[in-house]
Amino acid sequence: MENIAKKPIQPNPILLQSKELYEYILETTVYPREPEPLKELRAASASHPTAFFGTAPDAGQLMAMLLKLVNAKRTIEVGVFTGYSLLLTALAIPDDGQIIAMDINRKSYEIGLPIIQKAGVEHKIDFIESQALPALDKLLENQENEGSFDFAFVDADKGNYLNYHERLIKLVKVGGIIVYDNTLWGGTVAWPEESVPAAKRDVRQSSIEFNKSMVTDPRIESSLAPLGDGLTICRRIY
Ligand code: SAM
Ligand code: CA
Repeated sequence: MENIAKKPIQPNPILLQSKELYEYILETTVYPREPEPLKELRAASASHPTAFFGTAPDAGQLMAMLLKLVNAKRTIEVGVFTGYSLLLTALAIPDDGQIIAMDINRKSYEIGLPIIQKAGVEHKIDFIESQALPALDKLLENQENEGSFDFAFVDADKGNYLNYHERLIKLVKVGGIIVYDNTLWGGTVAWPEESVPAAKRDVRQSSIEFNKSMVTDPRIESSLAPLGDGLTICRRIY
């Protein structure tokens, strides 16, 4: 288990073209400070056929810092998989913090759950097995939820990012943060369409539209960090 946790992993798809540089970043800056439960969760997920779904540890490290910078207490997680980003969030927020986590697949969440329990943070997590859109709409039915969240992380079906954004912008408070993963879609957003494999074209197109929309949305300021597969960080400004 130890070996797998320490083995350098590549984000999928790889944006940083130098494998050596990526390993350098992981070995010198990320792994030495990565909490033990997160290493364990990576190891437990490593044999999963879609292990590459897991948030890249370097992107995770930045997210943990963002959570602490805004003193996040209430958060939303859209797309849990085995729970790497969920666990890092649970470790970063205070003991009385709360994460509303949603995923259509509880089975993969259950792979990480024993590690989350061992880390003593399960009580902060409210896992909802559901499509994310209706789950977010349900949250919005209760007016008290509006503007009540400090942070949200979106890492589910990319074609719905704009739909998630319309809901999350109401749920997150002014000054709160929404982070979207995979917004560079393996770099294909910058490729000519004809050179993109057919299977990736739809998400490439929705990622391009999403990225454009982030720049013109007056309710936020945003930054697209080329970390992992592209991490768009938005701050609600009104
Ligand atoms: N953030 C996770 C981590 O750090 O391990 C990885 C999430 S994985 C890339 C995407 C997840 O989104 C999958 O677990 C999948 O079941 C879930 N998903 C896909 N479409 C969804 C939808 N419409 N609603 C909710 N979850 C969805
Ligand atoms: Ca992702």
